[in-house]
Amino acid sequence: MQKPQTFQNVNVPNPVKKPRGKIVKIQLTEEQKEEIKHILAGHPPKKVRDRYEKNGITDINLMKYRPPGKRNRLDAVRKIVGGLCCTCGNFNTHVVKYKTQGITIVERYCSEHVPDMI
Ligand SMILES: [Zn+2]
Repeated sequence: MQKPQTFQNVNVPNPVKKPRGKIVKIQLTEEQKEEIKHILAGHPPKKVRDRYEKNGITDINLMKYRPPGKRNRLDAVRKIVGGLCCTCGNFNTHVVKYKTQGITIVERYCSEHVPDMI
């Protein structure tokens, strides 16, 4: 009697164990931290401030600028910090990199959810 055939895809590689990741804390420069504060407060971004400062206006209240909505402000901050925590969606403060099979997997975490690997 013939054995029943089972579905087997020979092209699927064997699963590999997830390697140990390397945690990297994101280091923001003072300038970037300052810019994040400005963005969240709805102040003009550096590009706009520079233009006004070139003309001698340094008071942000005198600069004509329509602040973006909350969502766009958060988007702008996300561009600076790199991304969002994959657990809670807050801004990431840590990046975990796994090197496996010639590729690098990047996971982003906030300081609360960064996994313990030590
Ligand atoms: Zn988180």
